[in-house]
Amino acid sequence: AKTAGRNTLQFYSPNMHMAIQERVQMEAEMRTGLEQGHFELFFQPQVHAHQVIGCEALIRWRHPERGFIAPSLFIPLAEDSGQILALGQWVLHTACAQLAAWASNPHMAHLSIAINVSPRQFHQPNFVEQVIAAITQTGADPRALELELTEGLLLHDVEDTIEKMLQLKRHGIAFSLDDFGTGYSSLAYLKRLPLDQLKIDQGFVRDVLTDANDAAIARTVVALGTSLGLRVIAEGVETAAQRDFLQHNGCTTWQGYYFSRPLPVAEFAEWVAQFSS
Ligand code: C2E
Ligand code: CA
Ligand code: CA
Ligand code: CA
Repeated sequence: AKTAGRNTLQFYSPNMHMAIQERVQMEAEMRTGLEQGHFELFFQPQVHAHQVIGCEALIRWRHPERGFIAPSLFIPLAEDSGQILALGQWVLHTACAQLAAWASNPHMAHLSIAINVSPRQFHQPNFVEQVIAAITQTGADPRALELELTEGLLLHDVEDTIEKMLQLKRHGIAFSLDDFGTGYSSLAYLKRLPLDQLKIDQGFVRDVLTDANDAAIARTVVALGTSLGLRVIAEGVETAAQRDFLQHNGCTTWQGYYFSRPLPVAEFAEWVAQFSS
């Protein structure tokens, strides 16, 4: 067996066995967590010039025993198990219900909500119908809903992807390309997609002041987006200096800890009221 190679040995190691058990348990707990309301959306502001224009909804899991579990731990697992479909539906409905609730609040009515759409969710044959149903059932204004897609998702079945995007855009829903610059999409391909916005990945924003390559990439994304008629937002903005650099280079919409961390809904509403006054 030893000659069979590293991977084979690892596959049968007790650690891997534990990992599988843990995965199975976490999957089961995700299902109950969803039923029992242990998931929550946090909201992180998106600021344009001096105004809050919207927010990104980010999922949080408050596990009764394990405490808070970060999405980077359970989203990939949910992707593998298919649980992401139920989770994605919940995010969609919760975000739309929030939009509908904010519509009657003069301080919040102008805000958009961006949600992260997983590849598996987007490629469901009835994804468009699911989104329309969430809007109809909650009474949310579709023009306030934004869907964040990743490059990997868009590379799969391009024709179907474009068709789905066009159908949703007819309802006023906007599309943002998340983590832009970390994937492999070609310019020709990017031009074909009916996108509204590019999101400069936080990996480039982090060292934008100290790493000449990251600065060049950030500038290039802004120039590229602008020349394609797209809005460009930078994520992971943590300092005034990073914001100033981006602003100086033509990117005037930002999201990041410099403005606020993702917040529970009540705190987010307070933050908006303070920021706007
Ligand atoms: P993402 O979509 O790229 O989201 C941005 C992540 O960066 C969030 O982490 C956010 O809290 C964090 N962030 C925001 N500003 C800053 C900053 O200034 N500095 C730093 N260092 N980080 C910042 P979070 O909430 O842990 O989410 C991680 C990832 O999990 C997300 O990355 C997204 O891919 C996924 N995710 C989160 N919520 C959902 C969801 O509802 N559905 C799906 N499918 N994926 C989600
Ligand atoms: Ca995102
Ligand atoms: Ca991102
Ligand atoms: Ca990311």
